Amino acid sequence: MPELPEVETIKRTLSPRLVGRTIEKMEVRTPKFLVGAGPDEFRRRVEGGRVLDLERRGKFLILRLEDGDLAVHLKMAGQLVWCRPGDDLGPTREKHTHVVFHLDDGHELRYVDTRHFGRVYLLDGDPDDPLLRRALRTLDELGPEPREGGLEWEGFRARLAARAARLKSLLLDQAFVAGLGNIYADECLFRAGIHPLRLASSLSEEEARRLFAGMREVIAEAIEFRGTSVRDYVDGEGREGSFSERLNVYGRTGEACPRCGAAIERMVIGGRSSHFCPRCQPPPEPSPRTNV
Ligand SMILES: [Zn+2]
Repeated sequence: MPELPEVETIKRTLSPRLVGRTIEKMEVRTPKFLVGAGPDEFRRRVEGGRVLDLERRGKFLILRLEDGDLAVHLKMAGQLVWCRPGDDLGPTREKHTHVVFHLDDGHELRYVDTRHFGRVYLLDGDPDDPLLRRALRTLDELGPEPREGGLEWEGFRARLAARAARLKSLLLDQAFVAGLGNIYADECLFRAGIHPLRLASSLSEEEARRLFAGMREVIAEAIEFRGTSVRDYVDGEGREGSFSERLNVYGRTGEACPRCGAAIERMVIGGRSSHFCPRCQPPPEPSPRTNV
C-alpha cells in the first residue's frame, strides 16, 4: 500500500498539474468511496472551485479547495491518475474508476481503486459520519514524520524509552510516527540493524540513534527514487517507483542479505509479515522469566 514516500511522490507529481486549476465537474461513479457527504453535496462543494494547494500528512493526500478540503487515503491499491478524457487506462483500471474530477484545462483526475479500500473524505462534512470521525481523529493524532523538520531526536528517544511495544508494531502506529507502513518499517529496522521483535524500551542509546538516523535515510532515499511499486502503486504521472530495486529485506525472504549473505527470514508480528536478516538484526535476549 502507498506509504509516506509514495504519497509524497504523488503529491509532487500532481501539484504542478492541479494547483490553480478549477474543478469544473465531479463525476461520481461509485458513491461508496465518498465519506462525509453524499454525491450531491460533494459536487456542490467541489464543482466550480479552484485547487488552492496539495498537502500530505502521513499517508493522506489533502486537496485544499476554495470551498472545503478533501482528503484522499489510497489504502491498499488506490491510484490518482491525471490524464486526458479519451486516455485508455486499460480495462481493469477503467472498470475500477470510481470518481473523476474534470479540470478546466481539459484534463481529468481519476480516482482508481481495484481493491475498494481507499476513500475520499470531505473534511468538514457530516460530523456524525463515523468513517469521517475516524479519519479526522487519525489525522489529528498523527505523530511526527520521520524526516528533517519532523521527528526530533530528543522527543523520539524519550517516547521510545516509554514504550514496551515491539518495534515493528510501534513503527506502524501512525500516532507514534506518521507515514510508515509494512515496507518501510522493515527497511528502517534493517538499516538500523535492529530485530523487529525488540521492545522499544530495551534499545540502547546507540541503537536508538541508529534507528532515528536509519528512518530518516530510508524515507529520504525512497522519496528520491519516487517510491516503491509493489502491487498497484503508480505516481500522478502513471510511473512506477524505482525504490523497489533498492529494498534490502522487504519481500526478499530466502534471498541473501546484501550486507552479510545470510538468508532473509520472514515472520508474522501483530498480523503483519516482517522481513529481517537474522544475523544483522540479532533477536532479542530472552527475558529472565522465560529462563526459569
Ligand atoms: Zn545480514
